Amino acid sequence: MIKLNKFEVLKIEEGGFPNTNYIYNLSLFINMEFQFQRHRIDKISKDKIISELEKVAKKNNFIVFGKREFNEYSEISAGTVIRKFGTWRKAISFLKDYLKNKGHELSARKTPPNRIYSDKELFDEMERIWKQLGHRPSKIEWTASKPKISFGCYKHRFGGWTNTCLKFIEYKMGHEVIIDDIPKKESVKEIQPELKIKKEDKRDIPLKLRLSVLNRDNFRCVFCGRSPATSVGVILHIDHIHPFAKGGKTTLNNLQTLCSKCNIGKSDRKLN
Ligand SMILES: [Zn+2]
Repeated sequence: MIKLNKFEVLKIEEGGFPNTNYIYNLSLFINMEFQFQRHRIDKISKDKIISELEKVAKKNNFIVFGKREFNEYSEISAGTVIRKFGTWRKAISFLKDYLKNKGHELSARKTPPNRIYSDKELFDEMERIWKQLGHRPSKIEWTASKPKISFGCYKHRFGGWTNTCLKFIEYKMGHEVIIDDIPKKESVKEIQPELKIKKEDKRDIPLKLRLSVLNRDNFRCVFCGRSPATSVGVILHIDHIHPFAKGGKTTLNNLQTLCSKCNIGKSDRKLN
C-alpha cells in the first residue's frame, strides 16, 4: 500500500492523474515529483494561455474580466493561468500590456465581479439617480442614468425593485413608513384576533398592500409631491382617505401616501 503525502493527495483531488493510468502515474510521480510537476504546468504552453486570455478579453469587449468569466468562456481553467503567472492580477496585467502592443485597450470594469456593496453605497447611488431624475427611477431610467451599480444588483439584494425603493425610503427616513390612523391604544376588541374579520376591515395595512400604495404613489406625498429620497426630513405616512374610524376600508383605493406635514394639515382641515 502506497501512502500519499499531502501534495500528492492535492494533485489527485485536482484531477492531476488520468484515472486509467493512475498507478503508473503515481509511481512515476513519486520518483520524479519535480519533473512531473513541471510537466503538468508546461503541458499547456504559455502561448496557448495567452491566446485563451485574449479570446476571453474579446468576448468581454476588452473589459477586465475575472476568473469566473474566464472559466465560462475558456477551454482551459483559470487555475492553469494562475499557475503560470503566479496570480490572476499578474495575468491580467500581462494581458493588458500584450493587448496594448496589438493596439487594444483593456479597460477597467465599472463594477468588479462579485463585489458586495454596503447598504450605504447602494443607497448613495440610488439617491444620486433619484435626485437627478426628480422621481423614483424605472428600470429603463436607471439603466439610462449610467449607474455605478446595476439594476439587477439591487433587485437581487432586496428582492425586487419596489422593495428596494421601500428599503431606500426607510433608510432615508431612519425608520419604517408610518401606518397612520392607528391609535396608540388599540381597543381590546381589535387586539383579540378574530378570524372572521376580513383584511379590508382591519386597520393595520399588510406589508404587500403598503408596498402597492407606495409604489402607485411613487414613494412621495400625493399632496405636495415631496419624498424622503429628495428632501431631508420628509416622513411618509400611509393614510386612509376615508377614515377607518368612520367606516373607511383598508383597500388600495382608500389608501394614499402623505407626508407627515400634509397629513397633519388634512386632520386640521377635518377639525375646522
Ligand atoms: Zn406632503
